[in-house]
Amino acid sequence: MSDFDLFVIGAGSGGVRASRVAAAYGARVAVAEEYKVGGTCVIRGCVPKKLLVYGSHFAEDLDDAAMFGWDVPAKTFDWAVLRDNVLGEVSRLEGAYTETLKTHKVTILQERATLTGPNSVRLASGKEITADKILIATGARPVMPAIEGIEHAISSNEVFHLERLPKRIVIAGGGYIANEFAGIFHQFGSHVTLVNRTDVMLRHYDQQIVDRLIQISLRKNIDFKFHATIDRVSRDVNGRLHIAMTGCDDLEADELLFATGRHPNTEDLGLEAVGVETGDNGKVGVDEDNRTSVPSIFAVGDVTDRVQLTPVAIREGQAFADTFFGNKPCRVDYGSIPSAVFSHPPLAGVGMTEGQARNTIGPVKIFTSDFRPMKNVLAGRNERSLYKIVVDAESEVVVGIHMIGPDAPEILQAAAIAVKAKLKKSDLDDTLALHPTMAEELVLMR
Ligand code: NDP
Repeated sequence: MSDFDLFVIGAGSGGVRASRVAAAYGARVAVAEEYKVGGTCVIRGCVPKKLLVYGSHFAEDLDDAAMFGWDVPAKTFDWAVLRDNVLGEVSRLEGAYTETLKTHKVTILQERATLTGPNSVRLASGKEITADKILIATGARPVMPAIEGIEHAISSNEVFHLERLPKRIVIAGGGYIANEFAGIFHQFGSHVTLVNRTDVMLRHYDQQIVDRLIQISLRKNIDFKFHATIDRVSRDVNGRLHIAMTGCDDLEADELLFATGRHPNTEDLGLEAVGVETGDNGKVGVDEDNRTSVPSIFAVGDVTDRVQLTPVAIREGQAFADTFFGNKPCRVDYGSIPSAVFSHPPLAGVGMTEGQARNTIGPVKIFTSDFRPMKNVLAGRNERSLYKIVVDAESEVVVGIHMIGPDAPEILQAAAIAVKAKLKKSDLDDTLALHPTMAEELVLMR
Protein backbone atom coordinates (compact mmCIF):
# COMPACT_ATOMS: atom_id res chain seq x y z
CA MET A 1 0.00 0.00 0.00
CA SER A 2 1.30 3.49 -0.86
CA ASP A 3 2.15 6.01 1.85
CA PHE A 4 -0.50 8.40 0.44
CA ASP A 5 -3.38 8.30 -2.04
CA LEU A 6 -2.25 11.66 -3.43
CA PHE A 7 1.07 13.49 -3.26
CA VAL A 8 0.94 17.10 -4.41
CA ILE A 9 4.10 19.01 -5.32
CA GLY A 10 3.48 22.72 -4.75
CA ALA A 11 1.06 24.43 -2.35
CA GLY A 12 -0.15 27.24 -4.60
CA SER A 13 -3.69 27.94 -5.75
CA GLY A 14 -4.11 24.72 -7.78
CA GLY A 15 -2.20 22.46 -5.38
CA VAL A 16 -3.98 23.67 -2.25
CA ARG A 17 -7.43 23.31 -3.84
CA ALA A 18 -6.69 19.79 -5.09
CA SER A 19 -5.21 18.73 -1.73
CA ARG A 20 -8.05 20.11 0.34
CA VAL A 21 -10.86 18.74 -1.83
CA ALA A 22 -9.25 15.30 -2.28
CA ALA A 23 -8.73 15.09 1.48
CA ALA A 24 -12.36 16.10 2.07
CA TYR A 25 -13.37 13.14 -0.10
CA GLY A 26 -11.41 10.92 2.30
CA ALA A 27 -8.08 10.61 0.46
CA ARG A 28 -4.80 10.46 2.37
CA VAL A 29 -3.00 13.53 1.02
CA ALA A 30 0.47 15.05 1.42
CA VAL A 31 1.66 18.30 -0.11
CA ALA A 32 5.28 19.41 -0.43
CA GLU A 33 6.09 23.13 -0.60
CA GLU A 34 9.65 24.43 -0.72
CA TYR A 35 8.76 28.09 -0.10
CA LYS A 36 5.50 29.27 1.44
CA VAL A 37 1.99 27.81 1.51
CA GLY A 38 -0.22 29.94 -0.75
CA GLY A 39 1.97 30.08 -3.86
CA THR A 40 2.48 32.98 -6.24
CA CYS A 41 -1.02 34.44 -6.00
CA VAL A 42 -1.11 34.75 -2.25
CA ILE A 43 2.56 35.29 -1.46
CA ARG A 44 3.94 37.37 -4.35
CA GLY A 45 1.23 37.92 -6.90
CA CYS A 46 -2.45 38.83 -7.05
CA VAL A 47 -3.04 39.46 -3.35
CA PRO A 48 -0.12 41.73 -2.37
CA LYS A 49 -0.38 43.41 -5.81
CA LYS A 50 -4.05 44.22 -5.26
CA LEU A 51 -3.23 45.66 -1.83
CA LEU A 52 -0.61 47.90 -3.44
CA VAL A 53 -3.21 48.94 -6.03
CA TYR A 54 -5.56 49.94 -3.20
CA GLY A 55 -2.72 51.78 -1.47
CA SER A 56 -1.72 53.64 -4.59
CA HIS A 57 -5.28 54.70 -5.39
CA PHE A 58 -5.31 57.02 -2.39
CA ALA A 59 -2.97 59.35 -4.31
CA GLU A 60 -5.73 60.39 -6.71
CA ASP A 61 -8.54 59.95 -4.18
CA LEU A 62 -6.85 62.44 -1.86
CA ASP A 63 -6.33 64.83 -4.80
CA ASP A 64 -9.98 64.54 -5.80
CA ALA A 65 -11.21 64.97 -2.22
CA ALA A 66 -10.84 68.77 -2.36
CA MET A 67 -13.59 69.13 -4.97
CA PHE A 68 -15.84 67.10 -2.69
CA GLY A 69 -15.29 69.59 0.12
CA TRP A 70 -12.55 67.85 2.05
CA ASP A 71 -9.58 69.82 3.27
CA VAL A 72 -6.75 67.31 3.09
CA PRO A 73 -3.43 68.49 4.54
CA ALA A 74 -0.35 68.01 2.35
CA LYS A 75 -0.18 64.28 1.74
CA THR A 76 2.91 62.19 2.16
CA PHE A 77 3.40 58.52 1.44
CA ASP A 78 5.50 56.08 3.44
CA TRP A 79 6.37 53.03 1.35
CA ALA A 80 7.76 51.11 4.31
CA VAL A 81 4.44 51.34 6.17
CA LEU A 82 2.42 49.98 3.25
CA ARG A 83 5.04 47.35 2.35
CA ASP A 84 5.18 46.00 5.90
CA ASN A 85 1.40 46.02 6.31
CA VAL A 86 1.00 44.15 3.02
CA LEU A 87 3.66 41.60 4.00
CA GLY A 88 1.90 41.20 7.35
CA GLU A 89 -1.37 40.43 5.59
CA VAL A 90 0.42 37.95 3.33
CA SER A 91 1.78 36.15 6.41
CA ARG A 92 -1.72 36.04 7.90
CA LEU A 93 -3.06 34.48 4.71
CA GLU A 94 -0.21 31.99 4.58
CA GLY A 95 -1.23 30.94 8.09
CA ALA A 96 -4.89 30.67 7.06
CA TYR A 97 -4.04 28.46 4.06
CA THR A 98 -1.83 26.26 6.22
CA GLU A 99 -4.61 25.97 8.80
CA THR A 100 -7.14 24.94 6.14
CA LEU A 101 -4.86 22.16 4.96
CA LYS A 102 -4.28 20.99 8.53
CA THR A 103 -8.01 21.05 9.29
CA HIS A 104 -8.48 18.71 6.33
CA LYS A 105 -5.73 16.45 7.69
CA VAL A 106 -3.41 17.11 4.75
CA THR A 107 0.23 16.38 5.65
CA ILE A 108 2.35 19.45 4.87
CA LEU A 109 6.00 18.85 4.08
CA GLN A 110 7.96 22.10 3.97
CA GLU A 111 10.65 20.99 1.58
CA ARG A 112 11.31 20.38 -2.07
CA ALA A 113 10.10 17.12 -3.61
CA THR A 114 11.26 15.56 -6.88
CA LEU A 115 9.84 12.65 -8.85
CA THR A 116 11.69 9.34 -8.68
CA GLY A 117 9.10 7.12 -10.34
CA PRO A 118 5.48 7.00 -11.50
CA ASN A 119 4.40 6.55 -7.87
CA SER A 120 7.25 7.94 -5.85
CA VAL A 121 8.93 11.18 -4.86
CA ARG A 122 12.05 12.04 -2.88
CA LEU A 123 12.12 14.90 -0.40
CA ALA A 124 15.11 17.23 -0.11
CA SER A 125 15.86 15.58 3.24
CA GLY A 126 16.32 12.30 1.37
CA LYS A 127 13.12 10.54 2.45
CA GLU A 128 11.34 8.54 -0.27
CA ILE A 129 7.53 8.62 -0.29
CA THR A 130 5.08 6.59 -2.38
CA ALA A 131 1.64 7.67 -3.60
CA ASP A 132 -1.04 6.25 -5.90
CA LYS A 133 -1.29 9.56 -7.72
CA ILE A 134 1.08 12.51 -7.95
CA LEU A 135 -0.03 16.03 -8.85
CA ILE A 136 2.52 18.53 -10.15
CA ALA A 137 1.42 22.05 -9.20
CA THR A 138 4.75 23.85 -9.08
CA GLY A 139 3.60 27.01 -10.87
CA ALA A 140 5.81 29.35 -12.86
CA ARG A 141 8.45 31.98 -12.22
CA PRO A 142 9.37 35.27 -13.88
CA VAL A 143 11.51 35.06 -17.00
CA MET A 144 14.73 37.07 -16.62
CA PRO A 145 16.77 37.66 -19.79
CA ALA A 146 20.41 36.58 -19.97
CA ILE A 147 21.89 40.08 -20.34
CA GLU A 148 24.96 41.62 -18.75
CA GLY A 149 24.12 43.07 -15.33
CA ILE A 150 20.79 41.24 -14.95
CA GLU A 151 21.63 40.79 -11.25
CA HIS A 152 20.85 44.50 -10.82
CA ALA A 153 17.28 44.03 -12.06
CA ILE A 154 14.29 42.75 -10.10
CA SER A 155 11.21 40.70 -10.95
CA SER A 156 7.72 40.74 -9.46
CA ASN A 157 9.12 38.43 -6.73
CA GLU A 158 11.30 41.17 -5.29
CA VAL A 159 9.11 44.18 -5.95
CA PHE A 160 7.06 43.66 -2.79
CA HIS A 161 10.18 43.79 -0.62
CA LEU A 162 11.92 46.94 -1.92
CA GLU A 163 13.80 48.75 0.81
CA ARG A 164 12.81 52.14 -0.54
CA LEU A 165 10.53 53.56 -3.18
CA PRO A 166 12.46 54.19 -6.43
CA LYS A 167 12.39 57.78 -7.67
CA ARG A 168 12.68 56.40 -11.20
CA ILE A 169 11.73 52.91 -12.30
CA VAL A 170 12.09 51.30 -15.71
CA ILE A 171 9.71 48.42 -16.38
CA ALA A 172 10.37 45.98 -19.21
CA GLY A 173 7.34 44.33 -20.83
CA GLY A 174 3.89 45.39 -21.98
CA GLY A 175 1.72 42.78 -20.29
CA TYR A 176 -0.21 42.43 -17.04
CA ILE A 177 2.58 42.98 -14.55
CA ALA A 178 4.22 45.85 -16.45
CA ASN A 179 0.99 47.82 -16.73
CA GLU A 180 -0.14 47.11 -13.18
CA PHE A 181 3.16 48.19 -11.63
CA ALA A 182 3.45 51.18 -13.97
CA GLY A 183 0.19 52.43 -12.41
CA ILE A 184 1.19 51.54 -8.85
CA PHE A 185 4.60 53.25 -8.94
CA HIS A 186 3.28 56.27 -10.81
CA GLN A 187 0.64 56.82 -8.11
CA PHE A 188 3.32 56.54 -5.42
CA GLY A 189 5.21 59.35 -7.14
CA SER A 190 7.93 57.41 -8.98
CA HIS A 191 8.79 58.35 -12.55
CA VAL A 192 7.89 55.34 -14.66
CA THR A 193 9.31 54.32 -18.04
CA LEU A 194 7.77 51.32 -19.72
CA VAL A 195 9.91 49.54 -22.32
CA ASN A 196 8.19 47.26 -24.83
CA ARG A 197 9.70 45.28 -27.68
CA THR A 198 6.83 46.19 -30.06
CA ASP A 199 4.12 48.84 -30.02
CA VAL A 200 1.45 46.31 -29.02
CA MET A 201 0.63 46.03 -25.34
CA LEU A 202 -1.67 43.60 -23.58
CA ARG A 203 -2.06 41.84 -26.88
CA HIS A 204 -4.89 39.57 -25.78
CA TYR A 205 -7.12 42.47 -24.79
CA ASP A 206 -9.31 44.55 -27.07
CA GLN A 207 -6.87 47.05 -28.55
CA GLN A 208 -9.32 49.97 -28.48
CA ILE A 209 -9.51 49.51 -24.71
CA VAL A 210 -5.73 49.18 -24.44
CA ASP A 211 -5.28 52.37 -26.51
CA ARG A 212 -7.38 54.22 -23.94
CA LEU A 213 -5.05 53.01 -21.18
CA ILE A 214 -2.02 54.20 -23.15
CA GLN A 215 -3.63 57.63 -23.75
CA ILE A 216 -4.45 58.06 -20.07
CA SER A 217 -0.99 56.85 -19.01
CA LEU A 218 0.73 59.23 -21.43
CA ARG A 219 -1.28 62.12 -20.02
CA LYS A 220 -0.01 61.16 -16.57
CA ASN A 221 3.57 61.39 -17.88
CA ILE A 222 4.31 57.70 -17.82
CA ASP A 223 6.99 57.30 -20.50
CA PHE A 224 6.68 54.62 -23.15
CA LYS A 225 9.60 53.32 -25.20
CA PHE A 226 8.18 51.19 -27.99
CA HIS A 227 10.26 48.97 -30.27
CA ALA A 228 12.99 49.15 -27.66
CA THR A 229 15.07 46.49 -25.94
CA ILE A 230 17.37 46.46 -22.97
CA ASP A 231 20.92 45.37 -23.80
CA ARG A 232 22.94 45.83 -20.60
CA VAL A 233 22.62 47.11 -17.07
CA SER A 234 25.20 48.45 -14.65
CA ARG A 235 25.02 50.13 -11.26
CA ASP A 236 27.30 53.06 -10.37
CA VAL A 237 28.77 53.93 -6.96
CA ASN A 238 25.75 56.11 -6.15
CA GLY A 239 23.41 53.19 -6.71
CA ARG A 240 22.06 54.52 -10.02
CA LEU A 241 21.29 52.04 -12.77
CA HIS A 242 22.57 52.72 -16.27
CA ILE A 243 20.52 50.87 -18.84
CA ALA A 244 21.96 50.48 -22.33
CA MET A 245 19.18 50.39 -24.92
CA THR A 246 18.53 49.57 -28.54
CA GLY A 247 15.70 51.53 -30.14
CA CYS A 248 15.90 54.56 -27.83
CA ASP A 249 18.38 56.58 -25.78
CA ASP A 250 20.00 54.83 -22.84
CA LEU A 251 18.08 55.15 -19.58
CA GLU A 252 18.92 55.86 -15.94
CA ALA A 253 16.86 54.59 -13.06
CA ASP A 254 16.87 53.44 -9.45
CA GLU A 255 15.14 50.14 -10.19
CA LEU A 256 14.65 48.01 -13.28
CA LEU A 257 11.72 45.58 -13.18
CA PHE A 258 11.43 42.78 -15.73
CA ALA A 259 7.85 41.71 -16.44
CA THR A 260 8.31 39.73 -19.62
CA GLY A 261 6.30 36.61 -18.92
CA ARG A 262 6.53 33.59 -16.65
CA HIS A 263 8.20 30.24 -17.23
CA PRO A 264 6.83 26.90 -15.92
CA ASN A 265 8.77 25.54 -12.92
CA THR A 266 9.81 22.16 -14.23
CA GLU A 267 13.60 22.13 -13.96
CA ASP A 268 15.16 19.44 -11.76
CA LEU A 269 11.80 17.90 -10.92
CA GLY A 270 12.79 14.50 -12.27
CA LEU A 271 10.27 14.72 -15.12
CA GLU A 272 12.56 13.34 -17.82
CA ALA A 273 13.76 10.42 -15.73
CA VAL A 274 10.17 9.40 -15.01
CA GLY A 275 9.02 9.96 -18.59
CA VAL A 276 6.70 12.97 -18.14
CA GLU A 277 6.64 14.79 -21.46
CA THR A 278 7.19 18.55 -21.52
CA GLY A 279 6.64 21.23 -24.15
CA ASP A 280 9.16 23.62 -25.67
CA ASN A 281 9.10 26.10 -22.79
CA GLY A 282 9.28 23.33 -20.21
CA LYS A 283 5.53 23.17 -19.60
CA VAL A 284 4.06 19.85 -18.50
CA GLY A 285 1.80 18.47 -21.22
CA VAL A 286 -1.59 17.24 -19.97
CA ASP A 287 -4.85 15.98 -21.43
CA GLU A 288 -8.34 17.29 -20.63
CA ASP A 289 -8.26 15.40 -17.32
CA ASN A 290 -4.95 17.01 -16.32
CA ARG A 291 -3.16 13.69 -16.88
CA THR A 292 0.45 13.74 -18.08
CA SER A 293 2.09 11.16 -20.35
CA VAL A 294 2.58 9.04 -17.20
CA PRO A 295 -0.89 7.77 -16.18
CA SER A 296 -0.39 8.17 -12.40
CA ILE A 297 1.04 11.70 -12.68
CA PHE A 298 -1.12 14.79 -13.20
CA ALA A 299 -0.50 18.53 -13.40
CA VAL A 300 -2.58 21.68 -12.88
CA GLY A 301 -2.02 25.43 -12.92
CA ASP A 302 0.74 27.60 -14.39
CA VAL A 303 3.15 24.66 -14.75
CA THR A 304 0.95 23.44 -17.62
CA ASP A 305 1.00 26.92 -19.23
CA ARG A 306 -2.59 26.73 -20.44
CA VAL A 307 -4.09 29.90 -18.97
CA GLN A 308 -1.86 31.46 -16.29
CA LEU A 309 -4.63 32.75 -14.04
CA THR A 310 -5.39 31.84 -10.43
CA PRO A 311 -9.10 31.04 -10.86
CA VAL A 312 -8.19 28.68 -13.71
CA ALA A 313 -5.63 26.84 -11.56
CA ILE A 314 -8.23 26.56 -8.80
CA ARG A 315 -10.81 25.15 -11.23
CA GLU A 316 -8.26 22.65 -12.55
CA GLY A 317 -7.36 21.54 -9.00
CA GLN A 318 -11.05 21.17 -8.15
CA ALA A 319 -11.82 19.24 -11.35
CA PHE A 320 -8.87 16.90 -10.72
CA ALA A 321 -9.99 16.16 -7.15
CA ASP A 322 -13.68 15.78 -8.11
CA THR A 323 -12.83 13.45 -10.98
CA PHE A 324 -10.34 11.16 -9.28
CA PHE A 325 -11.31 11.29 -5.60
CA GLY A 326 -14.95 12.38 -5.57
CA ASN A 327 -16.28 10.14 -8.30
CA LYS A 328 -17.65 13.24 -10.07
CA PRO A 329 -15.91 13.37 -13.44
CA CYS A 330 -15.66 16.93 -14.74
CA ARG A 331 -13.53 19.04 -17.04
CA VAL A 332 -12.68 22.72 -17.02
CA ASP A 333 -14.44 24.84 -19.60
CA TYR A 334 -11.84 27.25 -20.95
CA GLY A 335 -14.38 29.34 -22.88
CA SER A 336 -15.20 32.90 -21.85
CA ILE A 337 -12.69 33.34 -19.04
CA PRO A 338 -13.04 36.86 -17.63
CA SER A 339 -9.78 38.64 -16.83
CA ALA A 340 -8.62 42.07 -15.74
CA VAL A 341 -5.56 44.25 -15.57
CA PHE A 342 -5.42 46.24 -12.34
CA SER A 343 -3.86 49.23 -14.02
CA HIS A 344 -4.83 52.86 -13.26
CA PRO A 345 -7.62 52.87 -14.37
CA PRO A 346 -8.21 49.14 -14.53
CA LEU A 347 -9.40 47.33 -17.63
CA ALA A 348 -11.23 44.04 -17.98
CA GLY A 349 -12.60 41.79 -20.68
CA VAL A 350 -14.44 38.56 -21.39
CA GLY A 351 -15.03 36.69 -24.61
CA MET A 352 -13.90 37.76 -28.05
CA THR A 353 -12.25 41.08 -28.75
CA GLU A 354 -13.50 42.99 -31.79
CA GLY A 355 -10.50 41.76 -33.77
CA GLN A 356 -10.99 38.12 -32.80
CA ALA A 357 -14.71 38.29 -33.56
CA ARG A 358 -14.17 39.82 -37.00
CA ASN A 359 -11.60 37.13 -37.79
CA THR A 360 -13.63 34.19 -36.55
CA ILE A 361 -17.31 35.12 -36.88
CA GLY A 362 -17.26 37.62 -39.72
CA PRO A 363 -20.06 40.18 -39.49
CA VAL A 364 -20.23 41.69 -36.01
CA LYS A 365 -21.98 44.65 -34.44
CA ILE A 366 -19.97 46.83 -32.10
CA PHE A 367 -21.56 48.99 -29.42
CA THR A 368 -19.46 51.44 -27.44
CA SER A 369 -20.02 53.91 -24.67
CA ASP A 370 -17.31 56.52 -24.19
CA PHE A 371 -18.11 58.56 -21.09
CA ARG A 372 -16.64 60.54 -18.26
CA PRO A 373 -17.69 58.99 -14.93
CA MET A 374 -19.72 61.36 -12.76
CA LYS A 375 -17.10 61.29 -10.01
CA ASN A 376 -14.36 62.29 -12.45
CA VAL A 377 -16.46 65.20 -13.72
CA LEU A 378 -16.88 66.76 -10.29
CA ALA A 379 -13.25 66.02 -9.40
CA GLY A 380 -12.10 67.75 -12.60
CA ARG A 381 -10.33 64.55 -13.62
CA ASN A 382 -10.21 64.34 -17.36
CA GLU A 383 -10.27 60.55 -17.66
CA ARG A 384 -12.88 58.91 -19.83
CA SER A 385 -14.12 55.35 -19.50
CA LEU A 386 -14.80 53.14 -22.50
CA TYR A 387 -17.19 50.18 -22.56
CA LYS A 388 -17.57 47.96 -25.57
CA ILE A 389 -19.93 45.14 -26.47
CA VAL A 390 -19.18 42.78 -29.36
CA VAL A 391 -22.23 41.10 -30.88
CA ASP A 392 -22.53 38.36 -33.49
CA ALA A 393 -24.49 40.23 -36.20
CA GLU A 394 -26.40 37.17 -37.32
CA SER A 395 -27.47 35.59 -34.03
CA GLU A 396 -27.41 38.83 -31.97
CA VAL A 397 -25.53 36.89 -29.25
CA VAL A 398 -23.13 38.94 -27.11
CA VAL A 399 -19.71 37.37 -27.73
CA GLY A 400 -17.50 39.84 -25.88
CA ILE A 401 -17.59 42.63 -23.31
CA HIS A 402 -14.60 44.89 -22.71
CA MET A 403 -14.16 47.92 -20.52
CA ILE A 404 -11.74 50.38 -18.99
CA GLY A 405 -12.66 52.67 -16.14
CA PRO A 406 -13.09 52.77 -12.37
CA ASP A 407 -14.14 49.40 -10.94
CA ALA A 408 -14.12 47.78 -14.41
CA PRO A 409 -13.05 44.35 -13.00
CA GLU A 410 -15.87 44.43 -10.40
CA ILE A 411 -18.44 45.29 -13.07
CA LEU A 412 -17.11 42.82 -15.60
CA GLN A 413 -17.36 39.86 -13.24
CA ALA A 414 -21.15 40.19 -13.33
CA ALA A 415 -21.27 41.10 -17.02
CA ALA A 416 -19.27 37.94 -17.82
CA ILE A 417 -22.37 35.90 -16.98
CA ALA A 418 -24.07 37.37 -20.05
CA VAL A 419 -21.29 36.15 -22.33
CA LYS A 420 -21.05 32.75 -20.64
CA ALA A 421 -24.83 32.32 -20.87
CA LYS A 422 -24.77 33.41 -24.52
CA LEU A 423 -27.34 36.13 -23.86
CA LYS A 424 -28.50 38.30 -26.73
CA LYS A 425 -27.97 42.02 -26.99
CA SER A 426 -31.75 42.38 -26.55
CA ASP A 427 -31.45 40.72 -23.10
CA LEU A 428 -29.11 43.51 -22.06
CA ASP A 429 -31.43 46.12 -23.62
CA ASP A 430 -34.42 44.66 -21.74
CA THR A 431 -32.64 44.97 -18.42
CA LEU A 432 -33.53 48.17 -16.58
CA ALA A 433 -30.69 50.53 -15.77
CA LEU A 434 -29.56 50.92 -12.19
CA HIS A 435 -29.11 54.65 -11.92
CA PRO A 436 -26.81 56.41 -11.36
CA THR A 437 -23.99 53.93 -11.91
CA MET A 438 -21.24 53.45 -14.45
CA ALA A 439 -22.38 49.87 -15.03
CA GLU A 440 -25.75 51.05 -16.36
CA GLU A 441 -23.95 51.93 -19.60
CA LEU A 442 -23.94 48.19 -20.31
CA VAL A 443 -27.71 48.14 -20.73
CA LEU A 444 -28.04 51.56 -22.37
CA MET A 445 -25.90 51.11 -25.50
CA ARG A 446 -28.01 51.35 -28.64
P1 NDP B 1 2.45 38.84 -19.97
O1 NDP B 1 2.40 37.59 -20.75
O2 NDP B 1 1.20 39.50 -19.55
O3 NDP B 1 3.27 39.93 -20.77
C1 NDP B 1 4.59 39.70 -21.15
C2 NDP B 1 5.10 40.92 -21.86
O4 NDP B 1 6.49 40.79 -22.06
C3 NDP B 1 4.46 41.10 -23.23
O5 NDP B 1 4.33 42.47 -23.50
C4 NDP B 1 5.49 40.46 -24.15
O6 NDP B 1 5.48 40.98 -25.44
C5 NDP B 1 6.77 40.84 -23.46
N1 NDP B 1 7.86 39.91 -23.72
C6 NDP B 1 7.81 38.57 -23.72
N2 NDP B 1 9.03 38.06 -23.98
C7 NDP B 1 9.85 39.10 -24.14
C8 NDP B 1 11.22 39.22 -24.44
N3 NDP B 1 12.00 38.16 -24.60
N4 NDP B 1 11.74 40.46 -24.55
C9 NDP B 1 10.97 41.55 -24.40
N5 NDP B 1 9.67 41.50 -24.10
C10 NDP B 1 9.11 40.29 -23.99
O7 NDP B 1 3.41 38.50 -18.73
P2 NDP B 1 3.60 39.15 -17.28
O8 NDP B 1 5.00 38.86 -16.92
O9 NDP B 1 3.13 40.56 -17.24
O10 NDP B 1 2.64 38.28 -16.39
C11 NDP B 1 2.79 36.86 -16.39
C12 NDP B 1 1.47 36.17 -16.33
O11 NDP B 1 0.95 36.29 -15.01
C13 NDP B 1 0.40 36.78 -17.24
O12 NDP B 1 0.43 36.23 -18.51
C14 NDP B 1 -0.86 36.46 -16.51
O13 NDP B 1 -1.29 35.22 -16.93
C15 NDP B 1 -0.44 36.43 -15.04
N6 NDP B 1 -0.84 37.67 -14.36
C16 NDP B 1 -2.16 37.96 -14.26
C17 NDP B 1 -2.58 39.11 -13.63
C18 NDP B 1 -4.02 39.41 -13.54
O14 NDP B 1 -4.85 38.52 -13.74
N7 NDP B 1 -4.42 40.67 -13.29
C19 NDP B 1 -1.63 40.05 -13.04
C20 NDP B 1 -0.26 39.67 -13.23
C21 NDP B 1 0.11 38.51 -13.87
P3 NDP B 1 4.64 40.33 -26.62
O15 NDP B 1 3.21 40.72 -26.38
O16 NDP B 1 5.25 40.97 -27.81
O17 NDP B 1 4.86 38.86 -26.55
